[in-house]
Amino acid sequence: MAVVTVSNGFGSKSITINQAGKQPLLTVDKSSVTLQHGESQFKLEVTSNIRFMVELPGWIQLKGDNTWQEGKQVYTFTLSDLPDELLYREGVVTFSPVDASIGVLPVSVQLTQKGFTRVIAHRGYWRSPDYPQNSLASLQRALDLEIYGSELDVWITNDGVVVLNHDATISGINIENSSYAALKDVRLSNGESIPTLQECIDRVKKQSKTKLIIEIKSHATTTNENRVVAAVLELVRQNGAADQVDYISFSQNICKGLIANNPGNRVAYLNGNLAPDTLKSQGYWGLDYSSSVLKSNSGWVQSAKAAGLTANVWTVNTTDDFEYFITMGVDFITTDNPQILKDFLAAYK
Ligand code: MG
Repeated sequence: MAVVTVSNGFGSKSITINQAGKQPLLTVDKSSVTLQHGESQFKLEVTSNIRFMVELPGWIQLKGDNTWQEGKQVYTFTLSDLPDELLYREGVVTFSPVDASIGVLPVSVQLTQKGFTRVIAHRGYWRSPDYPQNSLASLQRALDLEIYGSELDVWITNDGVVVLNHDATISGINIENSSYAALKDVRLSNGESIPTLQECIDRVKKQSKTKLIIEIKSHATTTNENRVVAAVLELVRQNGAADQVDYISFSQNICKGLIANNPGNRVAYLNGNLAPDTLKSQGYWGLDYSSSVLKSNSGWVQSAKAAGLTANVWTVNTTDDFEYFITMGVDFITTDNPQILKDFLAAYK
């Protein structure tokens, strides 16, 4: 019995070959491959002294000129374009012995094809008195951009209404300790009253391109955090909007509640103090860390990808930093300048 180790740069796996003595090896130089947007081909080096066959999913093609020879062979594969509606897709390339009776196990390579970096508007598309942050006007303006998402911040009132605001207080009123009725006279700079999450879901439901990225703020008590999690999930359920929302929070308690409710909920953690592997083990969908955290932990985006997590960075507003994080391979950039980033990406592609 021989053991072949296949290394992919992040770890390794062992393949047991049940043929005593002779060691007919079938090895591939990687056990996983991740391709970024624009990379339409990849190569695998195969070492073998047996004849084998290659199985592929429909969207991966084997490029010609790959006749099997003894010894080492480099195979080139090409990929069809990732459909716009997909963030990524995964497939498996399997090399199997033609003669199954020799007892060599197939060797599989996991392949992930990633889409291009996408835009998330931070607190809507604001930066103007007519479009204050966390307003319906700024949300609508972000929806009109047809970007991936529009982020917003939510709190729960003491009578159970989920409303938008960045800070714990608005016009001197503490939202958690206030009834919704007591917030009714508050006006944003464009004359809007404080928006409810229900109103935002209503807007998002009228289109299909742009998601709500709901940041549930850390509340003063665990009780209030659990109340806001339950209320947000119930609103999303009642409105059939699960496919149109992602969740983010600095609070591990809030994130855990969202994941516990449904492991399919897309939950990303904001606080920057957990490594990708820890997030993966706790059921997170992704990390959503500040630009400074990802600059000082420059391997975390790659580690996130290797673990199957998404990577989002906030709040990135300059073209130098756009380029830095696109090159790093983040899935999402959260920005106060969504139009500029959208145009930058269109030119970059
Ligand atoms: Mg926020």
